[in-house]
Amino acid sequence: MANTGQLTRKTQEVAVLSRISELVLSLDLDDVLSKTLALLTETVGAERGSFFLLGPGRAAQRFITRRNLPPEISLFVVDTVLQQGLAGWVYRHKRGTIVYDTLTDERWVQFPDDPTPVRSVLCVPFVYEGRIHGIMTLEHAEPDHFNEDDLRLARAVANQATIAIRNAQLFDQVTTHERQLQTVLESIEEPVLTITPQGHVKLINPAALSMFGRPEEAVIDRPLAEVAADPFFRQVAEHIAAGHEHFELRDDHLNRDYLVRVSSWREGEASELGRVIVFNDITTLKDLTRLKSQMIQIASHDLKNPLGVIQGYTDMLLADLSSDTMIYSYISDIARVTRRMLDLVTELLNLERIETGATAGQKRFDPAQAIRQVLAEEQPKAQRKQQTLQHEIEPELPPLLGDPTQVRECFRNLIDNAIKYTPERGSITVRAFADHSEGRFHFQVEDTGYGIPQELQGKIFQRFYRAKQPGAEDIPGTGLGLSLVKAIIERHGGEVWFRSAAGQGSTFGLWLPLPAAQTDDAPATSAGDVGPFTTPLE
Ligand code: ADP
Repeated sequence: MANTGQLTRKTQEVAVLSRISELVLSLDLDDVLSKTLALLTETVGAERGSFFLLGPGRAAQRFITRRNLPPEISLFVVDTVLQQGLAGWVYRHKRGTIVYDTLTDERWVQFPDDPTPVRSVLCVPFVYEGRIHGIMTLEHAEPDHFNEDDLRLARAVANQATIAIRNAQLFDQVTTHERQLQTVLESIEEPVLTITPQGHVKLINPAALSMFGRPEEAVIDRPLAEVAADPFFRQVAEHIAAGHEHFELRDDHLNRDYLVRVSSWREGEASELGRVIVFNDITTLKDLTRLKSQMIQIASHDLKNPLGVIQGYTDMLLADLSSDTMIYSYISDIARVTRRMLDLVTELLNLERIETGATAGQKRFDPAQAIRQVLAEEQPKAQRKQQTLQHEIEPELPPLLGDPTQVRECFRNLIDNAIKYTPERGSITVRAFADHSEGRFHFQVEDTGYGIPQELQGKIFQRFYRAKQPGAEDIPGTGLGLSLVKAIIERHGGEVWFRSAAGQGSTFGLWLPLPAAQTDDAPATSAGDVGPFTTPLE
């Protein structure tokens, strides 16, 4: 008889385990939880059962309890049981247990208003990779209902079911993340898409889809270069293939300007897993910049002529007047401010031209000759202040490649500043040399002038910024010279630098790349139209 009983039990266990293992295929978490609970309740003849699904740190994420309590009371019950009750004991000991009689076992928390009689309980943890993912409790109104066999079976079921629960949980997480990602993507107004390392489109938001003008199914999993046949996307694909991480592009079809950013994601040091491409619409910004440039150019142009006329007439008047009259001093004031206004509009116009990319053609020129020419022009100014203007120009400097007028303007600006910001009897040294090992031409102007206090040094390359350091408060200027130098030198692939100490003097320097020695260079007079120097000056 005992044998038959054991056999029946074994058959029952096998049946239960095989039904549980079928659950591994289910990806619905609630389905897995309720079926596991129902199956075990039935097999061990329990009257009720409950299940707590635990998140990290013992917080109950989901629970199926035996009573239909309002959610806030259920939460309180679950929390109390998990902290002080039987479930808490199982959590701490990481193993299943039986309460033979709830009246004598203090691990059982009795809620005073609980109408359901419970005398015996079986409780097992669902453990996966050392962490408890859930706790199942089975109850019966009679004491001593559960035995060691029931506990063994419950443990075996828990082992199997944990895998099913884990699968369903992971699937749940993935779908939640996917939904989050989808919502984020859809709510972004900028067009965004992701591509695989092979360039196939993986995710795309509605804004990007509308740029393609195709339905989603015609885009997803297809190569970007193929789905986006128009020239704009072909250029995007080319930039990406060339490894560019951000670039500006105009879509002539839509009449919009975009700043395109490409970021790749990798797993650790391993190879690239994909790329995210974001299109920032910068049309308004571009339009404003274009408008500002046009305004400056028009205004400067229109101002230059009348100012030139005023300057011409004031010079004529001054020539005819005796310098000790009141009228002479009034007119020389007019002449002085007119010259300043003319300087300002000229520099503004130059700067605008450089920054908008309008520069003359590039040619080979001799930097030494350009420097000597500037020195000759500046010498009278230095003499008026009794300054020594000396130079150390390396003999046989190699030629430079670029716009000679603009580069000469930079030399002139730095020497002019040194004379301006050095008091009388100071000295200015101009140096020019080539460093063939690093392929650079260097130009430096050292002065013994006012210097620039540390706290004012940060802004001196900004447009219109004038440091007005002690001693230099009344020196006229526009605050545009250094911005112009910086723009020109950077356009030529070089850099500007300075060091300065208040009251001691400054050294302003720049370097330009030496052109590679070639035999087929453009002749010195040709506007060789290479690189960025393509638009001739007006
Ligand atoms: P500007 O000379 O017309 O004011 P710049 O852009 O050429 O404009 O120079 C910006 C500021 O940098 C100047 O106003 C001056 O305060 C400071 N600066 C430039 N060169 C020197 C120099 N050699 N020594 C001291 N200060 C200088």
